[in-house]
Amino acid sequence: MTLAAEVDSLLETFGVARERYRRGSRAVRSPLTGEVVANVQDANAADADRAIEQAKDAFLAWRLTPPPRRGELVRMLGEELRAAKPALGRLVTIEAGKILSEGQGEVQEMLDICDFALGLSRQLYGLIIASERPNHRMMEQWHPLGPVAVITSFNFPVAVWSWNAALALVCGCPVIWKPSQKTPLTALAVQALYERAVARFGDAPDGLSALLIGGPEIGELLVDDVRLPLVSATGSTAMGRKIGPRLARRFARALLELGGNNASIVCPSADLDLALRAIAFAAIGTAGQRCTSLRRLIVHRSIYDGLIAKLKQVYASVRIGNPLLQPDVLVGPLIDSAAFHKMEAALAEARAVGGGVFGGGRYELAQHPEALYARPALVELPRQIGPALRETFAPILYVMPYSEFDDALAMHNAVPYGLSSSIFTADLREAEMFLSAAGSDCGIANVNMGPSGAEIGGAFGGEKETGGGREAGSDSWKAYMRRLTSAINYGRELPLAQGVRFDID
Ligand code: NAD
Repeated sequence: MTLAAEVDSLLETFGVARERYRRGSRAVRSPLTGEVVANVQDANAADADRAIEQAKDAFLAWRLTPPPRRGELVRMLGEELRAAKPALGRLVTIEAGKILSEGQGEVQEMLDICDFALGLSRQLYGLIIASERPNHRMMEQWHPLGPVAVITSFNFPVAVWSWNAALALVCGCPVIWKPSQKTPLTALAVQALYERAVARFGDAPDGLSALLIGGPEIGELLVDDVRLPLVSATGSTAMGRKIGPRLARRFARALLELGGNNASIVCPSADLDLALRAIAFAAIGTAGQRCTSLRRLIVHRSIYDGLIAKLKQVYASVRIGNPLLQPDVLVGPLIDSAAFHKMEAALAEARAVGGGVFGGGRYELAQHPEALYARPALVELPRQIGPALRETFAPILYVMPYSEFDDALAMHNAVPYGLSSSIFTADLREAEMFLSAAGSDCGIANVNMGPSGAEIGGAFGGEKETGGGREAGSDSWKAYMRRLTSAINYGRELPLAQGVRFDID
């Protein structure tokens, strides 16, 4: 069966109408083979306007639906996703190029967040606050914010939507999704599964969840629309830099999940076998196309040579290929040729600043001449300079030695991003220092594991040029709600706060 035929058959199982992915003008290529597997139709400005208007109306009904009932819809969505997991995970592999277990893992993450959101639908707790005034009670309640725009990146084509949508829906907010223009097929599949859940649910308002396929121009319409009080956008820092000021201009809430340049510090006491496995997964896994991929390795001089020699063995032997044809490969393709050229440019720059490059370059697959597979690259740098300071969304790991722990920490924090980080050590003081206020400046800091592979239970996101947003677990749900502070006087007097007197006769 050709890949296009397999895409047909998968989308048919989800119930996506054929005209949605066969007759459009946007060609969708699978990075696995480079071939066109579908042709989708982009939304236009009128479609966006209609979706926003419908979401606005849907909000009026959905905000009054009791949260546990809203949770019921998310439970049904989770059931649909669970039943569709093998097929949807496979479509993620076809469309984003992930290996099979990562495609399945991405759908598992969707199920996890649906479970989390279902529980949350009975736990949208407010606060009762001690009042300084007699016979007064103060409290905080959380109310739904309004329709939410969700703009997502290609590398987690469905999970990022679910982190937002599952929480937004239980919080009472309609969702309008603009997926990456590189991965519209999985979005069509998820929307079809959502519609199945809605059909079973019965009384969800029309337009509660909408899908707008298209490029940045559709995203910009959402960014600039005052009917959308929150825009949650996941993608590059360059994208965040464009939309952040536009959102600020209209005082919209921005939930920005942007780029990262994540590092690990390997200390002298580290368990090096464990570190090696963790580094390999974090740096090479997903072909370096996770926002949390490991991009910088800061290694103590005393263990540097031994660890780098072992890493080189891993880099030289890791299995690269099309996961549909060889299920045991660990590295799939880059998303497109632009990604490959950026990788090549970064490696050329690394060489120019004196870096020693091991690996890299194109990995040719005779049967897929149009696909772009790359050999993961390990780059030894004497210090942190040049391309090591920025994110290149490809499997490049810059390795730098350190002598003093404080220098390693300073090097770790000396990049403009602040997403994820980790330390390998058996020294309690180093581990605690790394997690302390004077340690890693990221949103995520791990000990004795790599920086990638987060669970949905914790808030996900990062600082500095990563954008400051938080999604998924902990109290990230508050982003989709507005806080109402109320004071109630149940006495017959009118005492004023701070002892202010204002007596009228
Ligand atoms: P990208 O910035 O090219 O695109 C992301 C999304 O933003 C797409 O849907 C795109 O159409 C849209 N977009 C781009 N410009 C826009 C504009 N001016 N207005 C509105 N929308 C616009 O990113 P990508 O290549 O799809 O994904 C890779 C990047 O995403 C990496 O930098 C990675 O680190 C980052 N990422 C971050 C997280 C996180 O949680 N922090 C998660 C995944 C990916």
